[in-house]
Amino acid sequence: MDLKIAYHLENYIGGNLIGPLSGKFIDNVNPATGEVYGQIPDSNEKDVEAAVHAAQKAFISWSVSPVEERFKILNRIAELIDENLEALALAETNDNGKPLWLAKEVDIPRASANFRFFATGIMHFATESHNMEDKAVNYTLRQPIGIVGCISPWNLPLYLFTWKIAPALAAGNCVIAKPSEVTPVSAYLLAKICKEAGLPDGVLNILHGTGPNVGEAIVSHPAIKAISFTGSTKAGERIASIAAPKFKKLSLELGGKNPNIIFADCEWEKMLFNTIRSSFGNQGQICLCGSRILIEESIYEKFKTDFVAWTKKLTVGDPLLAESKQGAIVSKVHYEKILRCIETAKQEEGKILCGGTAVKVEGRCANGYFIQPTIIEGLNQNCQTNQEEIFGPVVTIQSFKTEEEALQLANATQYGLAASIWTKDISRANRVAAKVESGIIWINCWLLRDLRTPFGGLKNSGVGREGGWEALKFFTEAKNVCIQL
Ligand code: NAD
Repeated sequence: MDLKIAYHLENYIGGNLIGPLSGKFIDNVNPATGEVYGQIPDSNEKDVEAAVHAAQKAFISWSVSPVEERFKILNRIAELIDENLEALALAETNDNGKPLWLAKEVDIPRASANFRFFATGIMHFATESHNMEDKAVNYTLRQPIGIVGCISPWNLPLYLFTWKIAPALAAGNCVIAKPSEVTPVSAYLLAKICKEAGLPDGVLNILHGTGPNVGEAIVSHPAIKAISFTGSTKAGERIASIAAPKFKKLSLELGGKNPNIIFADCEWEKMLFNTIRSSFGNQGQICLCGSRILIEESIYEKFKTDFVAWTKKLTVGDPLLAESKQGAIVSKVHYEKILRCIETAKQEEGKILCGGTAVKVEGRCANGYFIQPTIIEGLNQNCQTNQEEIFGPVVTIQSFKTEEEALQLANATQYGLAASIWTKDISRANRVAAKVESGIIWINCWLLRDLRTPFGGLKNSGVGREGGWEALKFFTEAKNVCIQL
């Protein structure tokens, strides 16, 4: 199919691509070049109203459509995503600055996997029955909620957008979805794919624009009964304050400050290879990145030498080139924030072991936003650098003497999203996993994902779980039916 990208992107409402009702647009910038290369609808509550109207109409038949029909359409969307991998990956790279090879290997394959997973999942979704011996039998009905809102961030644009939309649609809901205004193009292309795949008009509506203008209008609209949000803890707090008094169902996947705990007996090369990935993958802009590296004292110096040497080999450059291991930071605002965080670390008397500065890339990317992968040591656990999410290619290293100290450091932030543990001692690995305050723990691996598992954070990293049956349960209302025998 022809996935042309219009200079002026459009919203997808009731099966039509249409401009924002306000007529207003905002610039779309390619962060690798600094150029404005498109315009994004600056939608508001009027566009939300139109989308709600379309969704209400569509819900009547979509909510009772046979699961086999939903399976076929969602599976077809997955196939079309795969068939258009090149165009979608390029869109992701131009919007986000991530290396094109990464978008092709990770982002787009995962977007199709999300649709395929929930397309098949809904065919197997079953509910419980509770038998009261000779008195009665109860069974649970799980019915679609109605219209739901899905709001996603810029770091893994289509990957996270589809991670919400696919289960919501599979469960029989109609969706009003908003991608990040920083990376809108892949969501715009998804609208065309959904149309081609035969998704009925109005079942999925995609609105572009900012959090305050259109995001909040989605969250506060009385006809939108559930909100699934992935993004910063700050925005999550604001969204909860609007949605909670209206008693909406809420799923919040928020920020992280994840520990990567390395014991002396780990498998060295494997740990080092994955620590490079978990520190700097996607320019450190993955919520699951391990930004606080905790190392057992006896191997601290060896780790430091090897880690710095490997990090220095990471080529920062044009994300279209295969040799670029690090692309651009997503936006000027975020680039400046990360550089400010590095300055704070210096003021806190952190020692920069490598990186610490912006990078000037020659040629096409001369005006892009690039930062050298940065390693900092010598900071205590309570400083701002070790407490606040930076969400960039910046990590700190700290040493620990005992398992207890490792745990104390690991748990010493307000966040609790993910953690990695590196050790060959299976008992210790399991002991530590049970005590680390994180929703997702990897032992001797990182970002190894099974879509059936519960996904989400503790503490300020979120509320609720996505993934597998958890997602289908979130996007349905449970109703108990009791029959007296
Ligand atoms: P963000 O919170 O600024 O924006 C996320 C989305 O919410 C965007 O679409 C934005 O327009 C919208 N938004 C912002 N304010 C809103 C409001 N008041 N009402 C409604 N919508 C609003 O986050 P970001 O900068 O796009 O993404 C980075 C953050 O996302 C990091 O904190 C990162 O850790 C987090 N993240 C978490 C996960 C996870 O699974 N826990 C995954 C990826 C990213």
